[in-house]
Amino acid sequence: MAATLGMGSLGEIREGLASGDLSSEALVRVCLDRIGRYDAKLNAITFTDPERSLEMARAADARLQNGERGTMLGLPMVLKDNLNWSGLPVSNGSKIMEGYRAPYDATVVKRLLESGAIPIAKANMDEFAMGSSGEYSAFGPTRNPWDIRRVPGGSSSGSIVSVAAGYAPFALGSDTGGSVRLPASFCNVTALRPTYGVLSRYGVTAMASSLDQVGPVARSAAGVAAGFSVMVGRDSHDSTSVDLPGMERLASLKPAPLKGLRVGLPKEYFGEGLDPAVRSALENALRVFEREGAEIIEVSLPHTAYAIDTYYLICTSEVSSNMSRFDGVRYGARKPGESLAGMMSATRESGFGPEVKRRILLGAFCLSKGYYDAFYMKALKARTLITQDFTDAFGKVDIIATPVSPGVAFPIGDKTLDPMAMYLADAYTVTTPLAALPCLSMPGGFLEGLPVGVQLIAPSLSDVKLLETAHAFQQLTDHHLKTPPELN
Ligand code: GLN
Repeated sequence: MAATLGMGSLGEIREGLASGDLSSEALVRVCLDRIGRYDAKLNAITFTDPERSLEMARAADARLQNGERGTMLGLPMVLKDNLNWSGLPVSNGSKIMEGYRAPYDATVVKRLLESGAIPIAKANMDEFAMGSSGEYSAFGPTRNPWDIRRVPGGSSSGSIVSVAAGYAPFALGSDTGGSVRLPASFCNVTALRPTYGVLSRYGVTAMASSLDQVGPVARSAAGVAAGFSVMVGRDSHDSTSVDLPGMERLASLKPAPLKGLRVGLPKEYFGEGLDPAVRSALENALRVFEREGAEIIEVSLPHTAYAIDTYYLICTSEVSSNMSRFDGVRYGARKPGESLAGMMSATRESGFGPEVKRRILLGAFCLSKGYYDAFYMKALKARTLITQDFTDAFGKVDIIATPVSPGVAFPIGDKTLDPMAMYLADAYTVTTPLAALPCLSMPGGFLEGLPVGVQLIAPSLSDVKLLETAHAFQQLTDHHLKTPPELN
């Protein structure tokens, strides 16, 4: 019982809590046990505070015994280590944050806590969320539970692996250019990147502020929607936050009708570089939509070829500015130096890893006098064109389906020496953040035992419809119910 419990879906676990078959305390113990049993191998977790989590679970049990019911009441969750949970470290997967503890809760965390959800751990991640594989962390690489010789995908590696390995039925990651979708695809879970602004960024370490979004993760779209439902809505601490139309439909998600749904396939996403096996997994998924009466329509997003360049110019520019606050004065580690500048440079030299340094240099270069117009400004213009492509496509279709990544989870170490190869893994996930659109990755099948995700993209603020569509797909398929064989 204890071993399989962790693999239950969020809905099943909630039913167990509501019926009294299960207590939140027992559940949290099972989850912590699973971390104890598997994490020496998987390395998905950075910090836990078992006493605090168990105390919160007992408080949730008291509420449940009083007859209270809630979408997330008593449910364990894991938080990416770039989200503030007050009192715990917020390492960002970096040495530079050593010794720093979050002084307050991120808004998304606060809202989940108010709903009665229970954080049980902070999750490993690529340093400051820069990476696609889960290998760029000061805490060492996270491993894929489907094959521990392979990467789980990043940067929200630990959050995704936590759900895939049954540490918790729900997790939060963040997605700037694909960081919940790519690992979700590699590990067979469902993860949403909401429309920009739908989830508050207050208390989330900034990477590239015009692109950052928090991303909920669960086995299924229904689980994602449950956690999402308690977090959405405007926040006075984040001026970019907006309300989400239809948010009242999230807590008990209904499948969207697929009959007559116009599903767009962007032809530019099926060219060179796409593993033919990934392509055929997507085609199989589309057959499910077609069988239910959806119409598959080819669309064109002509500026897709510029997306990687555009994303990496804008992202590194914003990174170089956001990383300047980590200078040894206020956050975490400090290395002594002979002068103030010497202290700052010694702290940054020893505190940041190579990928973060690479991006600070690239970004500072893009923004420098003489290069700003040639690089940063040009990227902003390309961003407008990429956004316009989507607007045009959504004139013809209701939803767009694409692969998540050109291939399946790759072996650990395969791309760490070649940053360009690593960046290319993001070819299909960086377009939507540039256009601020909601999108998700959901399990779409397997290739030789390794999961393959399908990406769905919807018009701005259609997050609810997007989840309802994924839910409809998951009513007709069972890929999302499969769990890594060795962990059952
Ligand atoms: N892999 C992308 C990058 O390295 C996306 C990261 C993210 O979404 N945080 O920038």
